[in-house]
Amino acid sequence: ASLADLDTTVPPTNRVQDRNQPAVAAPADSFANTPDTDPSLVANHAWGKDILARIPGSVLANDIVAATTVTELDELNSIVDTAVASAAAWGALSGAERAAILHRAGDVMESRRAEFMEVMAAETGKTLDQSDPEISEAIDFAHYYAERAKDLETVDGAAFVPAKLTVVTPPWNFPVAIPAGSTLSALAAGSAVVIKPAPQAQRSGSLMVAALWEAGVPREVLALVQLGENELGKALVAHPAVDRVILTGGYETAELFRSFRTNLPLLAETSGKNAIIVTPSADLDLAAKDVVQSAFGHAGQKCSAASLVIMVGSVAKSARFRNQLIDAASSLSVGYPETATTQMGPVIEPAAGKLLGALTTLDSGESWAIEPQQLDSTGRLWSPGVRTGVAAGSTFHLTEFFGPVLGVMQADTLEEAIAMVNAIDYGLTSGLHSLDSAEIGLWLDTVQAGNLYVNRGITGAIVQRQPFGGWKKSAVGAGTKAGGPNYLMGLGSWETAESTA
Ligand code: GLU
Repeated sequence: ASLADLDTTVPPTNRVQDRNQPAVAAPADSFANTPDTDPSLVANHAWGKDILARIPGSVLANDIVAATTVTELDELNSIVDTAVASAAAWGALSGAERAAILHRAGDVMESRRAEFMEVMAAETGKTLDQSDPEISEAIDFAHYYAERAKDLETVDGAAFVPAKLTVVTPPWNFPVAIPAGSTLSALAAGSAVVIKPAPQAQRSGSLMVAALWEAGVPREVLALVQLGENELGKALVAHPAVDRVILTGGYETAELFRSFRTNLPLLAETSGKNAIIVTPSADLDLAAKDVVQSAFGHAGQKCSAASLVIMVGSVAKSARFRNQLIDAASSLSVGYPETATTQMGPVIEPAAGKLLGALTTLDSGESWAIEPQQLDSTGRLWSPGVRTGVAAGSTFHLTEFFGPVLGVMQADTLEEAIAMVNAIDYGLTSGLHSLDSAEIGLWLDTVQAGNLYVNRGITGAIVQRQPFGGWKKSAVGAGTKAGGPNYLMGLGSWETAESTA
């Protein structure tokens, strides 16, 4: 098939402009990731489970979810076959041709910013201050990977051969930016994609895919399937025609995926248990702000979130930093995203199991600097918790909880603090607040994590500027950092005349 034969029709759209609502102005430069929120867009919407049914703009997402729900193995197999069959035409386009479509995808997503934010709020409880930069990140991915597609030329006689079919299985916590980044990377490399959004975020994922269809990605080349976490999901991941699986999710999910198929070609970014170290040389005002934002942004539900702060030497001994931290955390306004000023929203599901334990119980030697409170009967809305006295080797030190609770640890020296970080099995993000160049050098040389941030929060990696990816148990399988220069190379292979002969 040539690209002209493929289906580039798009489902009927319900743009923001159709809804008697003001459109959100496009930021001048999406790479700046500047929030550009018009709170009036959502301030009048009541929050509730039926919100999707009541917002006309989400009719599009509801329709697509209904149309792409797959319940039969035969149907799934035929979607996979179609994607594989269309891959050659897509892969045969020049990088510049694919880039033009991807750039357009960035523009379409920009035009739907408000609609994305509404649906993300309704599905996942994401607050506006979090969803707005997330859309910017998705747009950044489009423009960035579009340009990288042009790099995939013949190098030293070797030609880049894209994966035919990439399966994308994103998480619910970044329900637009992560599916967008993974999908756009594979498309940029020249691969066809089957994407299965997280069950909790099907509408957000659908809108993202609809934007790419609208931009000109054929529907055979980019297939959307809604599957529960069931046998069909396993059949998709394990399908022998799949050349790459891009997963963002828990470490256990990556292990599960690997059990589905021998030598599964997996690129997975997984769990994190991340710490910010604060030394006596730090700007403590800045450190307190960055720790609180990194710990409680999106209610701590980021693989990149700060779950620990390690106070070194006099920082631990004086009350100043501790009090700043407590003041800043307890001043966060907690609520649902319908209130535009909400700074910390709900957790995705009623807190249970491990997370409920972390919000309600302490280990020996620990105490609450701020005890989390359950704020309503949903079980989803909690005020932020700060627990002090977290001991090296304790459960809270070593376990990912994915919620709004921060543990405070103490170390006599920076070396001891780094050892506490490196004792953790995961290594996704890590932070240091210090104004001493020797300390910064020591930390950079010895700390074990994929993304290192000095005097900055540890969430919100910016495409191109901070390529994102983990180390140790925070990454499983092959692949380089997302949003970085080499990511597309992992989505195909280089072949020379001899290797193909
Ligand atoms: N890329 C996101 C960040 O830098 C984190 C993604 C995740 O939670 O998986 O905050």
